[in-house]
Amino acid sequence: MNTRDEALALDAADPLAHLREQFDIRPGLIYLDGNSLGVMPKATPARVQQVVAQEWGTGLIGSWNSAGWMDLAPRIGDKIAQLIGAKPGECVAADSTSVNLFKVLSAALTIARADAPQRMRIVSERSNFPTDLYIAEALAAERGLELVLADNPEELPALLDARCAVLMLTHVNYRTGRMHDMAALTQLAHAAGALALWDLAHSAGAVPVDLRGSGADFAIGCGYKYLNGGPGAPAFVWVAPRHAERFWQPLAGWMGHAAPFEFTPGYRPAPGIRRYLCGTPAVLSLAALECGVDTVLAAEAHGGMAALRQKSLALSRAFTALVEVRCAGFGLSLVSPHDDAQRGSQVCFAHPTHGYAMVQALIARGVVGDFRAPDILRFGFTPLYLRFVDAWDAVEQLRQMLSHEEWREARFNQKAAVT
Ligand SMILES: *Cc1c(COP(=O)(O)O)cnc(C)c1O
Repeated sequence: MNTRDEALALDAADPLAHLREQFDIRPGLIYLDGNSLGVMPKATPARVQQVVAQEWGTGLIGSWNSAGWMDLAPRIGDKIAQLIGAKPGECVAADSTSVNLFKVLSAALTIARADAPQRMRIVSERSNFPTDLYIAEALAAERGLELVLADNPEELPALLDARCAVLMLTHVNYRTGRMHDMAALTQLAHAAGALALWDLAHSAGAVPVDLRGSGADFAIGCGYKYLNGGPGAPAFVWVAPRHAERFWQPLAGWMGHAAPFEFTPGYRPAPGIRRYLCGTPAVLSLAALECGVDTVLAAEAHGGMAALRQKSLALSRAFTALVEVRCAGFGLSLVSPHDDAQRGSQVCFAHPTHGYAMVQALIARGVVGDFRAPDILRFGFTPLYLRFVDAWDAVEQLRQMLSHEEWREARFNQKAAVT
C-alpha cells in the first residue's frame, strides 16, 4: 500500500467492506480505539428503545417471562462462544471482566490446589492489565498465596513448575498488542500440573480464539471492546465443561442457584456455567451487548473470524509500515511485534516524552487513538469497520501533526481523567 489510490483499491476489493454499514461512523472520523470502546452499531438505539419502552414500559414485570429476559445471559453467552472456540452452554454474559476474573480465579485456585496444596503460586506477567493483577493480588492475599510476575513472556515457561497453581494471562497484551500462543502455554501449564486461565479482553471479536482446541481451563473477556456492546457492557465468562461442576464460585448469588424462584434456604449451584451468574442480569446493557455481538457474527457468512483476522493483519501491517517510513525521525518506536503471528489487532508506538500530547493532537485532527501511561500511543484496528484508506489517512494526519509539532500546544498537554 504505497499510495492513497492503492488503499482505495484494496477497499474496493475487500469482501468484508460492507460490514462497516452496520455502524454509524461520522464522516471524516478515523476511529482507532475500538480496542477500548467499540463503535455503536446502528441497530442498538432501536433495540434499547424497544426494551425500555415496550418490554419495561409496557410489559413491566411480566417481561421477565414474556420478553425472555432470563435467557439473555446464556443466549448472548452462546453467541460469544461461537467467536472463542467454545460450545453452546459453556459461556454466559454477566458482570464485569474484573468480577468474572474473581470468580474464575477463585475456581481455578480451588481446583488446582485440591490435591496439591503445595501449589502456592499464581503466575502472570508484570505488564498484564492492572485490574487483573489487582484481583489476583487480593485473592492471593486472602488465601495466603503468592502472585509471581514474569517481566517478559520468555520467562513464563520457567515459572511453570510444581509450585504453580494457576497461569493467568491476558491473551493479547493491552499495552503492546503482543499475542501469546494460547495452546503452547496452556500445554506447558498442564504439563506442570497447573491450570490456565485466559483473559480475552483484546481477543474476543478481534482474533480467532480456540478455547477448546487449546485446552484452556477458564476464560473471561470484555463486552465493550471488539464486541461493540457499549460503555460498561457486561463481560463474559467461560469454564471448560470438565471443571464447570467442580466448584461453587464465591459470589454465590441467587441467579447462580439451581432454582432461584423456589426461594429455598441453602445454596445449591445451578448445573454448568449458569452457576457463574450472581445477581439479577443487567437487561438494558445485555440488550445492547447482543446488538454488538451480532455485528461480529455478521462476518460468519463471509469467512468469520479467520477473514476478519486476515483483514486486521493487513491493516495493522500497512499502518506500521507507513508510520515507519512516513513518520521516521519523530522519535516514535514500534512496541508491537512485527511478526503477524505474535500481534493482536492493535499497533503501539512509544514516545519517550510527548506521547499523551501527540495522541490528543491527533484526536483533534479526527484520528482517535489512545494513550497508555507512561509512554504508549495505541492504535486499535477493528476490521469490522475500518478501511484501508483509514489506515492511509491516519498515517498522513499523524505525519502532518508531527511535522507541525502540534502536540506542543498547551491544550494537548492537559491530562483528562480518561486517557
Ligand atoms: C479492558 C480490560 C479489562 C476491563 O475490566 P473491567 O472490569 O471491564 O473494567 C480487564 N482486563 C483486561 C486485560 C482488559 O483489557
